Amino acid sequence: MIRLYRSALIGDDFLHGFPERTGGVSTGPRASLNLGYRWGDDPANVETNRRRLATFAGFPYEQLQVTRHVHGTHVWTVGEPLADDAEFDGLVCDRPGPVLGAFAADCVPIVFADPVARVIGAAHAGWRGTVNGVARNVVARMIEHGASAAQIRIALGPSIGPCCFEVGDEVVAEFRAAFGEVAGLVVPGPMKQHVDLRVALRAQLEAIGIAPAHLDSAPPCTRCEAERFFSYRRDGLAGGVHMGFIGIR
Ligand SMILES: [Zn+2]
Repeated sequence: MIRLYRSALIGDDFLHGFPERTGGVSTGPRASLNLGYRWGDDPANVETNRRRLATFAGFPYEQLQVTRHVHGTHVWTVGEPLADDAEFDGLVCDRPGPVLGAFAADCVPIVFADPVARVIGAAHAGWRGTVNGVARNVVARMIEHGASAAQIRIALGPSIGPCCFEVGDEVVAEFRAAFGEVAGLVVPGPMKQHVDLRVALRAQLEAIGIAPAHLDSAPPCTRCEAERFFSYRRDGLAGGVHMGFIGIR
């Protein structure tokens, strides 16, 4: 049984969701809906899982558009020539049909939608991508395709929460340099300090004109909820990968 975590902000003009880990065919720590090839799962299992998701969500499997993520900030618009080894952490599309996928396992999968201009985006934002502005870059590319910051709705998917995202002082310093003093950005943990990626992303997106009410930024924590989600912090490379997706109906 596939279960989708969805955001009420995105609306019915779009098909979107963040699948939980159930309903696939992968086994062990990747049980069962592992959607990523890179960490060594049987490719046949991954393809089966992706096909099951497409069927469940109601889009043709062939319409799924994904890219290789590298914790970077480059954005690909569907239709632009794409080399085999292309590396993009953001995707944008301005026409019905293609379904954009962004992978994550603790990092934040993000989906973007402008319901008026009918332009969509997806992104993978770990701490580096967050600090360096991948989400901001997706919004900028959407605007190039006719979207407006005042209209864009954004949903952050299941990802590691401030409860679990312990980081070193050097990472805290990167966030302080990028965001300054934002309430809740850095919180004390039992050992080291913790960073709240959702707070950082919200600050970055509000700073470029996204309305606070258009930002859904309180998803579940992947590391806390082992029954529902994969987590790199919890399971390492033996675990599975999630994928946020969005398409225009
Ligand atoms: Zn947690």
